[in-house]
Amino acid sequence: MEIQPNIFSNSDITVTYEPKLCINAERCARELSEVFRTSVIPWIKLDGTNDTKKIINQCKRCPSGALQCTIKNKAAINKIAS
Ligand code: SF4
Repeated sequence: MEIQPNIFSNSDITVTYEPKLCINAERCARELSEVFRTSVIPWIKLDGTNDTKKIINQCKRCPSGALQCTIKNKAAINKIAS
C-alpha cells in the first residue's frame, strides 16, 4: 500500500509532509516545536504559531524535501513580512 503525503491547511498556506522522503533528522521539530511535533497527532499543528513566515521558512530548511509549503494567500503573507 502506498503511503500518501499528509496535508495540513489553513487559510494562508498548505503544508504537505511526505513520509517516504523524511530522513527523520527532526530538524523541524527541534527548530519549530510548537508546529512540528514528533509524538502528538496531528503531527503538524499550523496554529501552533501566529507567525506563518516561520512555518514557510522551516519548510524551506527541511533537508529531504519531505516538507513542502504552498502559499494560498500571498497578500496575507506579505503583510506579515512587512
Ligand atoms: S525537517 Fe524534514 S527530513 Fe527532518 S524530520 Fe522534518 S520533515 Fe523529516
